[in-house]
Amino acid sequence: MYISNCPSCGLDFNDGDIYEVIAQTFPDKNHEELLEYCSHYGWTPENKKNFSKIINVKELGYGNFWQCPGCDWNDR
Ligand SMILES: [Zn+2]
Repeated sequence: MYISNCPSCGLDFNDGDIYEVIAQTFPDKNHEELLEYCSHYGWTPENKKNFSKIINVKELGYGNFWQCPGCDWNDR
């Protein structure tokens, strides 16, 4: 599931490059440690990914759906 903007309110779901966000969060980690950490998110230097603000909601009886953090939009 990847949507760059909310279809309803237009909110930009891009929450920053994963490597850059992790590097800022853990300034003590070296480059190799950061690469290892980012690989858990599927981020590699050849296949960079962004964190997303979109919320994955798990609701009994409905299963999983995606919800905008800024409005009521969801894909249920
Ligand atoms: Zn929205």
